[in-house]
Amino acid sequence: MGIIEKGLELLYPSNIYCISCGSIIDKTRPYALCDECVDKLHWLGQKTCAKCGKILQEDYRHDLCWDCRTYGHAFDRGYTCVQYGLYERGILLDYKYRKKSYIGRKLGDILYDRMLLEEESFDLIVPVPMHGKKQARRGFNQAAVMAARLAQRMGVPCAAGLLIRCRQTLPMKGLGAFERQQNLEGAFAVAPENRYKIAGRKLLLVDDIYTTGSTMDGCGKVLKEKGAKEIHVLSFACGANIAPKQ
Ligand SMILES: [Zn+2]
Ligand SMILES: [Zn+2]
Repeated sequence: MGIIEKGLELLYPSNIYCISCGSIIDKTRPYALCDECVDKLHWLGQKTCAKCGKILQEDYRHDLCWDCRTYGHAFDRGYTCVQYGLYERGILLDYKYRKKSYIGRKLGDILYDRMLLEEESFDLIVPVPMHGKKQARRGFNQAAVMAARLAQRMGVPCAAGLLIRCRQTLPMKGLGAFERQQNLEGAFAVAPENRYKIAGRKLLLVDDIYTTGSTMDGCGKVLKEKGAKEIHVLSFACGANIAPKQ
């Protein structure tokens, strides 16, 4: 190998690691996933909730998932890429807690391909914000890295500082409708200097995981109050459509 090729090899390595199992793969593999891991992920099925985009079982008899039928949402339409399972969890844990921020760019590519299936265009992409302290500990906001990559590929501006998370919220699991609403009350705000950016605009909110949709609702509510015209939400992974035990 000549010195120039060696230099190029360093700049553009021909092999990279699979973001799920870590095995060495050819860099041309889509999303930096090996073939085995591509098969293991729970990609979007045929049937999804007509409102939030959550994956529904083929024999499920409603068009809307349990959450959408029970609570409704502060956003207009939702999309997701995979159902949250063991392998999806592994990728997200590596990404967030082992600080492998490059995984976020690969997830952004997955989000981009997902949106190619929809005939939608947006004025602005907005990542779900993290609380300042939490972000300082982690070093990055996982939703913002994914959103930035998606925005770059869609050619749409990304407004990372537009929404602010004013306080931490409790996990939504096990909370009733009223408690969920209370948990999000005042949790998000629009930075005053950014208000002019959203009036009359169609926004795409981005997060890594979608479970009940409450976080997206918290964001959607303040964005609509400040004049956003339409809000769609996009996540990498969504939880299963399960009615909680009463
Ligand atoms: Zn793999
Ligand atoms: Zn739904």
